[in-house]
Amino acid sequence: MSKNIDWSSLGFGYIQTDYRYVCRYRDGQWEEGGLETDANITLNECACVFQYCQACFEGLKAYYTKDGRIVTFRPDLNAQRMADTCARLEMPAFPVEKFVEAVKMVVEANADYVPPYGTGASLYLRPFMIGTNSVIGVKPAVEFEFRIFCTPVGPYFKGGVKPIALKVSDFDRAAPHGTGSIKAGLNYAMSLHPIMEAHREGFAENMYLDAATRTKVEETGGANFIFVTKDNKLVTPKSDSILPSITRRSLMIVAEKYLGMEVEHREVPFAEVPDFAECGLCGTAAVISPVGSINDHGKEIVFPSGKEEMGPVLTKLYNTLRGIQMGEIEAPEGWIVTVK
Ligand SMILES: *Cc1c(COP(=O)(O)O)cnc(C)c1O
Repeated sequence: MSKNIDWSSLGFGYIQTDYRYVCRYRDGQWEEGGLETDANITLNECACVFQYCQACFEGLKAYYTKDGRIVTFRPDLNAQRMADTCARLEMPAFPVEKFVEAVKMVVEANADYVPPYGTGASLYLRPFMIGTNSVIGVKPAVEFEFRIFCTPVGPYFKGGVKPIALKVSDFDRAAPHGTGSIKAGLNYAMSLHPIMEAHREGFAENMYLDAATRTKVEETGGANFIFVTKDNKLVTPKSDSILPSITRRSLMIVAEKYLGMEVEHREVPFAEVPDFAECGLCGTAAVISPVGSINDHGKEIVFPSGKEEMGPVLTKLYNTLRGIQMGEIEAPEGWIVTVK
């Protein structure tokens, strides 16, 4: 029985659901883990997560397909990415298979919160891990908590997709050889000031350039860039300090295998940006957000696709990936994981 929620008015906010998966790491190993009802965590004031930010997270969605199944999209890639993040943060990897099982458990236990097919809303899942024991001298924690909670969220675009305006940031998102390629909370803490500055100036997001030379496109605070060339190629920036977006990696396959496009994953000089026909941001939240313009210190780059609607190639990419996710277009092997 679906919860009494007005799915059409849902935004992107936290709504507490009935169950979350919790697993604790003690004495060098993960305990059994299971579903719990308490949404609060009680920790010592000196817990490593509070003092030294030993924390990382993931994000993915569960939703109804056309044929009435509840599914998730490529959760194994979230599991693997979190394991990669953990390695960089001296945290214990949570086993990939156990992660995918935990995702299924949380979705199944909260199935009443999965928005109906066709609403555009979905159940957002937030796996995360924190260092929980008290640490005052700087060192990694030895006890950890892995948790997955979920919250129903509305469609990213309400009342139509409208291209957004970006600015080129004077701040850096990630250092060379830093933590840009992992999903650490600390990467977001330092992005809060730049994003608020951008908002105050009327921009939706920042385009960050590479910190070393400030000549190459990296990403925004929470989404990768995709560009379409005038001769119909998909180009997406490559750098060791970009977070490997699962949406971006999926779109590269969709472009090549479903739409017959050439795909280039390579360094993208900022100087090349005005030559592209279309520009978008990609991530789990919106799949693709079209970018209408980028302001470079007062000089505005406007893409030929314009400021009013998503360009034709990004629209095709968006519709194809959405169709695959919704079970309307046949998916590559393993992309859609059925919960029930
Ligand atoms: C999570 C995230 C993305 C998007 O990744 P998806 O797997 O597509 O959701 C992009 N950039 C950053 C910095 C992120 O944290």
